[in-house]
Amino acid sequence: MTAVRPFANPIETDAVIIGAGPVGLFQIFELGLLEVKAHIIDSLAYPGGQPIELYPDKPIYDIPAIPVCTGQELTDALLKQTEPFGATYHLGQEVSVVEKQEDGRFHVETSKGTRFLTKTIFIAAGVGAFQPRTLKVEGLDKFEGSQLFYRVRDPQQYAGKNLVIVGGGDSALDWVLNFVEGEHKAESVILIHRRDGFRAAPASVARMKELCEQFEMQFIVGQVTGYEEDNTLKAVKVTGGDGVTRSVPLDVLFVFFGLSPKLGPIADWGLEIERKQLVVDTEKFSTSEPGIFAVGDINTYPGKKKLILSGFHECALAAFGAMDIIFPEKKVFLQYTTTSPKLHKVLGVEMPNFD
Ligand SMILES: Cc1cc2nc3c(=O)[nH]c(=O)nc-3n(C[C@H](O)[C@H](O)[C@H](O)COP(=O)(O)OP(=O)(O)OC[C@H]3O[C@@H](n4cnc5c(N)ncnc54)[C@H](O)[C@@H]3O)c2cc1C
Repeated sequence: MTAVRPFANPIETDAVIIGAGPVGLFQIFELGLLEVKAHIIDSLAYPGGQPIELYPDKPIYDIPAIPVCTGQELTDALLKQTEPFGATYHLGQEVSVVEKQEDGRFHVETSKGTRFLTKTIFIAAGVGAFQPRTLKVEGLDKFEGSQLFYRVRDPQQYAGKNLVIVGGGDSALDWVLNFVEGEHKAESVILIHRRDGFRAAPASVARMKELCEQFEMQFIVGQVTGYEEDNTLKAVKVTGGDGVTRSVPLDVLFVFFGLSPKLGPIADWGLEIERKQLVVDTEKFSTSEPGIFAVGDINTYPGKKKLILSGFHECALAAFGAMDIIFPEKKVFLQYTTTSPKLHKVLGVEMPNFD
């Protein structure tokens, strides 16, 4: 793990949290109570992790004291709860490098080149960084970023263009409708999906079919099996259920096959790993490298259960566990949020009146 590389202008901090899922968000809170301000990083463009990415509208019934909430409501509540602690979010970037420095701190670097020098790291990376599933057609990847996209960053850029959108889930259908009749109208929109059945909201599918009947767009059942180019991507070749391959011209190709998690660079940081999870102790949830803690779905220990509530408990102990590294001179005591004036101050709340 020890590797020293000189680098310029890092953000110097006490704590970096990797992963802004429910557990990473609650880690902000537990560190905040102990007066530690954190930087939090996620490869996704928004916080929330699995509950937002995989089940935003599904009810969760086992968050203590909340009889039922959706993945979206849980995330919103966590963001509100952590607000007083002013964490800095670095979204849409994956942590690629973690290196120990000679002074005991860690150099952390993201895919966007954001650099940190931190006393502690809290890995709350869940099942790994979510990345788009790619379209597997040999050679096509050279157009990624110019004419092939897996995300829509700036819809305005595609107004007036001839678009081909591949996929059968909500993202594909939402963007089809947006580009056909929304604010950023494209010149033409062709949807391609391997079958005439969708995983998207039925109302969106019905609307898409209406738009096809009105000749506002086209839907083709088939799979992209090749492409045509001169210097640019000119067309995709689509093989239909009838076995016939047709050429579909385009300016821009969007592919929405969903996201899949990848443990990715975490496996290369020299930490003890067991079946793709980081081995931790259950006193401080420290990994095999002192100063690096792991909480939530990413860790493993005897009896581990991958539940949000387990992750929350782990955050509290990891925060206390980091205190002798962050504030070696300070004695840290457990205090109650109900009664501690000091905690009221850090939470920015009025002292409750118990009379
Ligand atoms: C369908 C479904 C239903 C579920 N229902 C329940 C339930 O009812 N109750 C319950 O308790 N649990 C439930 N779970 C499990 C629960 O969602 C997980 O336990 C929880 O999300 C774990 O939280 P986490 O913060 O550890 O990880 P995640 O939610 O996985 O968040 C991790 C975040 O880290 C980011 N990340 C990973 N690697 C990097 C990197 N290198 N750089 C930057 N960012 C990175 C990821 O993009 C992700 O956003 C359910 C899971 C699923 C799939």
